[in-house]
Amino acid sequence: MPFFLNAKVRDLTPYEPIAGDYPVRLDANESFLQPDSITFEEIARAVEGVAFNRYPDPTAAALCAAFAGYYAIDPALVTAGNGSDELLSVISTAFTQQDDKVITFTPDFSMYGVYTGLAGCDHMPLEKKNYQLDLTVAQGIRARMVLFSNPCNPTSLTIPAEEIRRFVRSTPALVVLDEAYMDFSEGSLMHEINDFENLIILRTASKALGMASLRLGFAITNERLTNALRAVKSPYNVNALSQAIGAALYGNHERVRQGIELIRTQRDKLREMFMLICRQVPGRLDLIGSEANFLFAKCVEAEKVTAYLKAQGIIIRQFGGTLRITVGNAEENHALLMALQEFFGGEAYA
Ligand SMILES: *Cc1c(COP(=O)(O)O)cnc(C)c1O
Repeated sequence: MPFFLNAKVRDLTPYEPIAGDYPVRLDANESFLQPDSITFEEIARAVEGVAFNRYPDPTAAALCAAFAGYYAIDPALVTAGNGSDELLSVISTAFTQQDDKVITFTPDFSMYGVYTGLAGCDHMPLEKKNYQLDLTVAQGIRARMVLFSNPCNPTSLTIPAEEIRRFVRSTPALVVLDEAYMDFSEGSLMHEINDFENLIILRTASKALGMASLRLGFAITNERLTNALRAVKSPYNVNALSQAIGAALYGNHERVRQGIELIRTQRDKLREMFMLICRQVPGRLDLIGSEANFLFAKCVEAEKVTAYLKAQGIIIRQFGGTLRITVGNAEENHALLMALQEFFGGEAYA
């Protein structure tokens, strides 16, 4: 008998990471602080006590305590996930019903549409004007859930905390505020989470912490929603190794702070030089946002630029007429700027 795939998965394709060996990877918004951020000795020490024959702690208590300790929040309001991607998936399926309306904004993180689509929701993406998020356009629409990132991926723009507060209070919908890049900016609502009935904040160790490989994400929400989330997630969703290493990582406050500071410093330097190039070629390259650990720029020749960089071993992301460039270390950023300079034929950067 022929087997037919159901409609909601028929047209999906597996996520395709960039294949091949490129020396400069500025495409995935990862941290450039690889091996020196945590030593193998520390990892060995953290993992030493793990009982490999036992299932991990379903509450990930030590990890959540370390995360909460770093951000000075209540650990009872933190739920750990296998990356914030898992939490997005669990939230989308658990807190909606078939055909519920879910609002997202474009451009934003593409996975919001994927998970809510799989949950059978009626996904309603609202187009942003000039890449800027305006929550008031969602105000009149009766939705079950609203998801967005702040700072936004891919625009690297933020919206003021006050606009989010006002929106969350004005809507009966569950608001999922993805703060994956908030360590690089200001205006988190994490510390006032108890003021809201309908807000879940997501954070991740994948960007600022430089630990994308561990798959560690966190949901911060009020007690009622925390209880619901812990009840619906699969019990052993975060493996014991990631829990142990994650706890050690967040436990070292000074190193986390320094790591973030280093990335912010490189980001500011890259932004400054990038703007020099932009000014040399008016209308051809325009910086839109740089609040996260990546730059977002408008560029009519985006496709050509991306191919040109790729030929030189530098990978960035291109969406239509825009570029998203992750901040790298000093050498990587230098290589990028030199290549851009060559492409555009200016002389601002040497
Ligand atoms: C990278 C990213 C995530 C995913 O983070 P993981 O914790 O690695 O799953 C979530 N949201 C946004 C906006 C991201 O850019």
